[in-house]
Amino acid sequence: MIGIVAATAAGKRMGAHLAETWPDTKVYDGPPRQALSDAWGECDGIVAFLAIGATVRLVAPLLTHKLSDPGLVCVDEAGRFAVAVLGGHGGGANALAERLGATLGVTPVVTTASDSVGAAALDQLGMPLAAGSAVAAVGAALLNDAPVDLGSDAPWPLPPLPGRIRETTVNEALPPCILVTDRLIMAPDPSVVLRPPSLVLGLGSSRNVDAGEVLALIDGTLLAAGLSPESVFAAATVEAKATEPGLVAACAQRGWPLVPYSAEDLDEIAVPHPSDVVRAAVGTSSVSEAAALRHAGAGAQLVVGKTASAMATVAVARRRPRGRLAIVGLGPGARDLLTPRAAAALAGATVVVGLDQYVEQIRDLLRPGTRVVTSALGDEEERARTAVDEARAGRSVALVSSGDAGVYAMASPALETAGDDVDVQIVPGVTAAVAAAALLGSPLGHDHAAVSLSDLLTPWEIIEQRIAAVAAGDFVVTFYNPRSRGREWQLPRALEILRDHRPASTPVGLVRDASRAGERVVLTTLAEVDPGLVDMRTAVVVGNSQTRMVAGRMVTPRGYRWG
Ligand code: SAH
Repeated sequence: MIGIVAATAAGKRMGAHLAETWPDTKVYDGPPRQALSDAWGECDGIVAFLAIGATVRLVAPLLTHKLSDPGLVCVDEAGRFAVAVLGGHGGGANALAERLGATLGVTPVVTTASDSVGAAALDQLGMPLAAGSAVAAVGAALLNDAPVDLGSDAPWPLPPLPGRIRETTVNEALPPCILVTDRLIMAPDPSVVLRPPSLVLGLGSSRNVDAGEVLALIDGTLLAAGLSPESVFAAATVEAKATEPGLVAACAQRGWPLVPYSAEDLDEIAVPHPSDVVRAAVGTSSVSEAAALRHAGAGAQLVVGKTASAMATVAVARRRPRGRLAIVGLGPGARDLLTPRAAAALAGATVVVGLDQYVEQIRDLLRPGTRVVTSALGDEEERARTAVDEARAGRSVALVSSGDAGVYAMASPALETAGDDVDVQIVPGVTAAVAAAALLGSPLGHDHAAVSLSDLLTPWEIIEQRIAAVAAGDFVVTFYNPRSRGREWQLPRALEILRDHRPASTPVGLVRDASRAGERVVLTTLAEVDPGLVDMRTAVVVGNSQTRMVAGRMVTPRGYRWG
């Protein structure tokens, strides 16, 4: 139960809100000294709407031990902060402060060491931790800048780690250490063992096999081979077996996808134990070995050959380590228009690649130790290749673009070169058209198009054809890259084409530096628009024939009559 103690009207109001919205609270009225003392004996946690100083003096005589005292959180009268004062871990005060943050909009303040970078970082490395990992001890070593060994069997990508890291092999790592391995090992103490997603199971079975038999076979086989089930990335089988209930249930129970391959596909894979009997039955001379190798991909190794129980077979392949490429849209500029997912991808990268001006924007979101590869404007392909090469080398890479990375930006050149040997994550961002539209009103309320006026990579004839099509189709249009020094006639030409098809009074919005310092919004019309106001930091939004100004806002109606 959570006890609530308050003295002032503001505190009582917040306390009453908690009592109404949380199921597990009790309000202690009366003078704070008595209220705190009563709550102390009855509650697991206490929220005191009192100054920390006063609270500490009142509870001092009640303190016994951090394992038995309730967690205590103080919230200031203005409702700005929830400070975990006592019992951060054992008493649950840190969690209580977070919970108050969500309900009251207060900022949780947590000062216990292992909640900050070290241990939290260990939980967020993107791989499961083996049971028995000494997270607190290794986290403390990282925090205290003690030397920590990072021992890996293979270079699976990890986010940057704080502290003094020495990279080595699993066998040579000395404690305190972080070990990245799919093998069951006697880890030195203290250590944290991370399980990379390295193993693929190939499964086969007779009809009506029992899920229990399948799992017993898998667990026994992995154990005998000294491999951890926590490193299993997926299971694969032949199409004919992909709906076999026992296999499906076994995989579902462990959260492994069961990936089907056609018999022809599997028959192409060279395996150590081909069988004519199997080939006669399902059309491929191997199911489990071939499926494991096939799904594990190029460079995979068969680590356990076909092993059978009465009705099931399993084989195990190990994948080559795979680097990770996150292609991240940073949004138009403002920090609160950068998504939490983008921030997480940046914090998880060991290498960040991007234009210097964009990387500057987000440097504070990168973890210490992140390597930054910036370049000036220009060769996109070169930048994309750098990012892909870094990921191929097994690193965790973030390639950043402004707005959305898929809109006139780095996602296309990166995906043109990335093979299926790297894992790709694409994080969407708020693109300029959307950021500009939000400042103008609702100009994109009906069918709309985006056209880049840059003829550096696209011949002008093609751009002009597109503008003509936009004009003929009465699409609202956002011009990206509208005008730069040396590219000055293109925008006037584009507007001229539109003027032939829609009224001179059609609203036009010029948005420069949307959501950035110096943001400027100009609302004008097709007749009056001044291209001199437009540069490469501007998005130009031209309405369709129905777009109009309502109370100073540009509105494209949903209902539509045309022609
Ligand atoms: N990937 C980016 C677009 C890159 S092309 C995105 O999704 O937004 C660059 C063009 O986008 C600029 O010339 C300008 O027309 C537009 N642009 C990008 N950010 C902008 C902003 N904050 N305000 C106005 N226009 C912007």
